[in-house]
Amino acid sequence: MRFHTHEALILEVFDLQDADRIVAFLTRERGHKRGVARGARRRHSRFAGQLQPLAKARIDWGEKEGRELVRISGADLVRPPRGLDDLEGLLLADYLADHMLRFAQEDEPSELYFRLLDSTLEALAAGVDRDLAVRYFEAWVLRIAGIFPAPRGCPQCGESFGAEGAVLPPAGEALLCPRCAGGTPGAGDRPSAGAAAPGGLAVPVPVLAFLVAVGRLSLPELAAQGGAEPAVLRRAEELASRVRRAFLGHELKSYDVMRRTLAEVAGAG
Ligand SMILES: [Zn+2]
Repeated sequence: MRFHTHEALILEVFDLQDADRIVAFLTRERGHKRGVARGARRRHSRFAGQLQPLAKARIDWGEKEGRELVRISGADLVRPPRGLDDLEGLLLADYLADHMLRFAQEDEPSELYFRLLDSTLEALAAGVDRDLAVRYFEAWVLRIAGIFPAPRGCPQCGESFGAEGAVLPPAGEALLCPRCAGGTPGAGDRPSAGAAAPGGLAVPVPVLAFLVAVGRLSLPELAAQGGAEPAVLRRAEELASRVRRAFLGHELKSYDVMRRTLAEVAGAG
């Protein structure tokens, strides 16, 4: 058995039979891990209150060669989860954690993912607009994964994006200028040929500007500059969702659950 102690962000907590819990957590040093916390459901357990989703905690665990589940032997709360205890907040918490489970690797250093989730949680606790924070987070997950479409210019013709904005083609992972997105090679002189490429997503100039700002500014800086219009955030959300789906081959389950649940709640109200 090899023993580790690292700061972690708790991603998921499941009850097992008896008094145990399964806990998924993210570390800078070892990526995401899954472990058993024995007795964690007992009232006077030493884990009581330490292992909640999106809490930051110092975790002690032991690993055995060839075993997927580690044994969690201790946990000290560093920061409780804050500001996400309403329905939308809980759904968002699942959504943020889901990204880490899909994109951060097990047993691989995950400094950038850790810092992204950590700083997003800090900003949410400080009252930064949720919509802005989550769009920022989504875009940065794609950046860290190396699949964020460059928002400045068209990789096909090399031109900077102009007043017509850009287009994400239906199965595409890169933003193209409208001409390249719609025209076949050599037919690039048709006026605004690609703007209506079927199934493509138009990405207008304000959305491109938002994506550039996300890459250059911290989330608090972006919020201090006034964030972005709701329509810009909706388009950025759709763009991130399409790029993520193309990469994973499916949408994150937590995203579908969040959208469906919030739509039902809105419909019932
Ligand atoms: Zn082009």
